[in-house]
Amino acid sequence: MPTAVSNVSRPIRMRVDSAALRHNFTRARQWAGAANLWAVIKANAYGHGQFQAARALDDLADGFALLETENAVALRERGHRQPILLLEGFFAPQEIAALARFDLTPVIHAPAQLEMLAAASERPARAYLKLNTGMNRLGFSPEEAGAARQRLETLGIRHLTLMSHFAEADAPAGIGAQLRCFGSFAADLGLPISLANSAALIRYPESRGGKDDWARPGILLYGGSPFADTTAAQLGLRPVMTLESRLIGIQTLAAGDRVGYGGVFQAEKPMRVGVVACGYADGYPRHASTGAPIAVAGVLTRTLGRVSMDMLACDLSPVEDARVGSPVTLWGEGEGGAVDADAVAAAANTISYELFCAVAERVPRENA
Ligand SMILES: *Cc1c(COP(=O)(O)O)cnc(C)c1O
Repeated sequence: MPTAVSNVSRPIRMRVDSAALRHNFTRARQWAGAANLWAVIKANAYGHGQFQAARALDDLADGFALLETENAVALRERGHRQPILLLEGFFAPQEIAALARFDLTPVIHAPAQLEMLAAASERPARAYLKLNTGMNRLGFSPEEAGAARQRLETLGIRHLTLMSHFAEADAPAGIGAQLRCFGSFAADLGLPISLANSAALIRYPESRGGKDDWARPGILLYGGSPFADTTAAQLGLRPVMTLESRLIGIQTLAAGDRVGYGGVFQAEKPMRVGVVACGYADGYPRHASTGAPIAVAGVLTRTLGRVSMDMLACDLSPVEDARVGSPVTLWGEGEGGAVDADAVAAAANTISYELFCAVAERVPRENA
């Protein structure tokens, strides 16, 4: 039953910009050349909303990649007809019938999955065979690949793609060793391949593949940079998520006054401090130290002191006309100004992936 005061009384909002998502996908297409593109929409499209992301990309993406069979089935039920890749395959035998029925493509990465497939009465027509080329997370060793491939084909799963995942595509070490390991086995098998995440897609053309192959960009679609040394704007990407709120209080400090829990920020001179309706229970990183970028009333400034559960403080020294109710952008592009999510993440010693995924359920969402 609607209440007189709805749950949108608190000013914090998360907005998702579908046009920016489509723009970023088009950037991915430029990097991909002839290769096909999975739009990676796992983890609820990195916190952006998987169904909204799939709708926005439906006419652009060659396929969607995610984790859970039930979410893949939900996409089918919403009318998405393109290939769907399950990045960790299936977890239990009960899922296998749905793979066949809804034409889902599981990643097969372990012998236990082969046993489950062998015992199943219905099997999917296609699969990705995942090789462990050095990340040591999921996958068969390259030496096991031939036998695993044969087993899948014997089970009637004949549309196979060979896959691996890079551990350091965003780092100086790069992909050379893993690519060599992959190449020494993949060449013999003569299957289509799928290797590149966002970082490899942008930086390593040799990992993208050709017209039968598939790249798997995630973060770049959401306007995050996979690199510490290159901003999303430099890559021609646009922010998709905006987290915004308003000032709900203003304090005037004298030199020596301190702010928030632990009093870890201390004013050196008289200053005004803004209190923002956003805290770690909204998904703002508690480990952001004094100095994380934040925009108030169109002016870029910095956070101050510790982030509380429901509030955080910011420096109003450069924001002369700030008042209670002034718009604040935590990240993205909002009424309060523009703030690079990667810079906020760096201030909290993390990556934008984590920020996007962590926006809390209690934050109302708006779709633009
Ligand atoms: C998450 C994921 C991706 C996408 O990675 P980004 O760094 O976000 O581009 C690609 N492949 C696999 C296997 C993944 O799990």
